[in-house]
Amino acid sequence: MKFLIGGGVHEHGRNCFFVQTDKTYIVDCGVMRGDEHPYPRLTEEEIRAAEFLFLTHMHEDHIGAFSWLLECGFRGTVVAAQETLAALPPYEKTFALPDDKMTADLGGLSVDYGRSGHCVGALWYHIRTAESSALFSGDYSEHSRFCVDKIEGRTAELAVLDCAFGHAKYDAKVQAERIRAFAEEAVTRGPLLLPVPKNGRAADLVMLLSGLDCPISLDKKLTAFFEGQRGNGRWLPVNVTDAVLTRVRRGGTGHEIAFLADAQLATEQGRAAAREALERGGSVLLTGHTDEGSEAERLLLEGRARAIPFNAHSCMEDDEALLARNNFARVVFNHSKDV
Ligand SMILES: [Zn+2]
Ligand SMILES: [Zn+2]
Repeated sequence: MKFLIGGGVHEHGRNCFFVQTDKTYIVDCGVMRGDEHPYPRLTEEEIRAAEFLFLTHMHEDHIGAFSWLLECGFRGTVVAAQETLAALPPYEKTFALPDDKMTADLGGLSVDYGRSGHCVGALWYHIRTAESSALFSGDYSEHSRFCVDKIEGRTAELAVLDCAFGHAKYDAKVQAERIRAFAEEAVTRGPLLLPVPKNGRAADLVMLLSGLDCPISLDKKLTAFFEGQRGNGRWLPVNVTDAVLTRVRRGGTGHEIAFLADAQLATEQGRAAAREALERGGSVLLTGHTDEGSEAERLLLEGRARAIPFNAHSCMEDDEALLARNNFARVVFNHSKDV
């Protein structure tokens, strides 16, 4: 089995993996924001040879290079959850993995899949051909509010596992308590702005902060996202979606906690919201990765924003537990500079 890393190992971004055996396929095609050469390190020959592109989820470090891949000559079938396919530019050859199954036969290649606990549409893949067997966790968390089908009892010659938190011991409960304590204090001084991905950790964070006596608001994109999940328990439990929507309608006496679907503060609206919160004596709390050169990173470096990471990924300790209940001959850890 020929296995190439197009990106995503020893870096946070550009996730892309290439496998060539009796079949040829690619898993994910992300970009590396802030990099002079942001695209995966694959040749046009390799890209044209790929019959399939499996996408684990819709975040741009996993799908952001899709248009580039087409420009390089990719003409294969894109395989993903329906929600992930919907986030792509128009493309005619797609295969949406059914929600009511956990396996699909694609002709000479079969894929088992399950929810990876990271966001709507996020899946892990166990891909088998006559001559190969490889598992890709995608961005994977067993600690979030998103539904997860745990990876267990699997045998493969290769596993690529999310290890975004690296060797830093990541304790979800400790991090959650740090965020809650920070927010509780922050709203006594002014508004608190939380820039987050549209599809990601907002549900966990709203639930975490729901006990505080202050209004919680979602911007338009996040409101539409949660409204879209209402009654659909496939990715977020129905009661979690309902609890989030109920909580944001409730008031409170403290300053407001505002969620904004712009994790890197890349939009003018996002930058303006951050400026306004800070001018009013408030705070900006970053709970995920900050891209190099982003406004979020600038505020952090200037000491005007605070960063407390939240649990949408795995750390080495999580991966060690996962490895103990599976059988993988070789393991590649991705998504971290430290591993
Ligand atoms: Zn992600
Ligand atoms: Zn990612």
